[in-house]
Amino acid sequence: MEKCSFCGREKKDVNLLIAGISGHICDNCILQAHEIVDEELKSTSDFDIGKVKLLKPIEMKAFLDQYVIGQDDAKKYLSVAVYNHYKRLSQSKIATDDIEIEKSNIVLVGETGTGKTLLARSIAKMLHVPFTIVDATVLTEAGYVGEDIESILTRLLQAADYDVSAAERGIVFIDEIDKIARKGDNPSITRDVSGEGVQQGLLKLLEGSIINVPPQGGRKHPEQKMIPVNTKNVLFICGGAFDGIDRKISQRLNTQVVGYAGTEGREKVDRKNLLQYIAPQDLKSFGLIPEIIGRLPVLTYLNPLDREVLRSILTEPKNSIIKQYTKLFEIDGISLAFEEDTFEYIVDKAMEYKLGARGLRSICEAIINDAMFELPSQDLKEMVVTLDYAKKKLSKTNLKRLIVA
Ligand code: ADP
Repeated sequence: MEKCSFCGREKKDVNLLIAGISGHICDNCILQAHEIVDEELKSTSDFDIGKVKLLKPIEMKAFLDQYVIGQDDAKKYLSVAVYNHYKRLSQSKIATDDIEIEKSNIVLVGETGTGKTLLARSIAKMLHVPFTIVDATVLTEAGYVGEDIESILTRLLQAADYDVSAAERGIVFIDEIDKIARKGDNPSITRDVSGEGVQQGLLKLLEGSIINVPPQGGRKHPEQKMIPVNTKNVLFICGGAFDGIDRKISQRLNTQVVGYAGTEGREKVDRKNLLQYIAPQDLKSFGLIPEIIGRLPVLTYLNPLDREVLRSILTEPKNSIIKQYTKLFEIDGISLAFEEDTFEYIVDKAMEYKLGARGLRSICEAIINDAMFELPSQDLKEMVVTLDYAKKKLSKTNLKRLIVA
């Protein structure tokens, strides 16, 4: 008589009995087994520092190199900070002595479009942790129009599919942190809606505390049940262009120089790229409150992108713009190639119109869009983008229109 080899029920007592090589299984047992599998997989995929194979800083940098061109200093600082962050997490479980490793939240200072977000995103990809990007400009103090500080954690919770413990080990990228700097040097402006009040609010998050987070975000759902989220192990990476901070750096360097005047072997200051000398006191001069600066102990900078870097960005990263187009065409069975001087031309235009790395994509789009429109309906199996073709297509576009803020 046929019966389930797992629960022993006979065929007549089940909905379905599936035969295997040397036994049977009923629909009921399949469902149960499926639940067990789900449960098992979930518990092993839960982020656990003990189980995660944490890359060493050098390996982390090598990982970042696949996606981000140049920016070696920033990559090194980030790799060390992330490595220490996760070492710290593993320590807190053992806690054998009184040495508490502090959280290494990070500030990245660099012109817009130099790879700050890309770096943060790539790190989250490397670690497989929930990641979210928030824009500091929309944040306001509670009671003002805009988003509450807690909304940052709502986003993180959403990114973690509401798995609170995963969110508590996630990474938050706060963009445009420079926009919440105190305006002017007058600290007596008490109603500085977007400035100091937000910095104070942010402080709580950065230093690590338990925050009640509205799961739906916003103030529209006053009845929603708050979820407590502990930010002690959330890594915050802040980014900002800090326009004009080079003047503060320059001022500081000048005054320092006075003290050391005449000292031999003094390093020559590279005036063209002052950001590389950035120090915490420059952030203070810019208008960040000292408490915030203290909570962002890792400070590093990104270089402006020069011609050579732009050229590499076009083709070298693992998911470079050109590789993406090639893939898109490949799906239609068309092999796409570019003549080398086309690349040079694209970079020239990006430089000429100061479009930066973001502009590379818009320029490529303008060149290749007609082909993407027409080719899928033609029999062509091969497409070579020559310099002439690129020039012709681009001449139809007003490049000024492509300028991105
Ligand atoms: P930021 O956050 O500094 O304003 P992003 O990281 O958003 O700049 O960069 C914008 C785009 O430019 C990215 O999506 C990426 O394609 C490209 N990009 C910028 N800098 C680099 C870089 N160093 N390496 C590779 N791509 C870059």
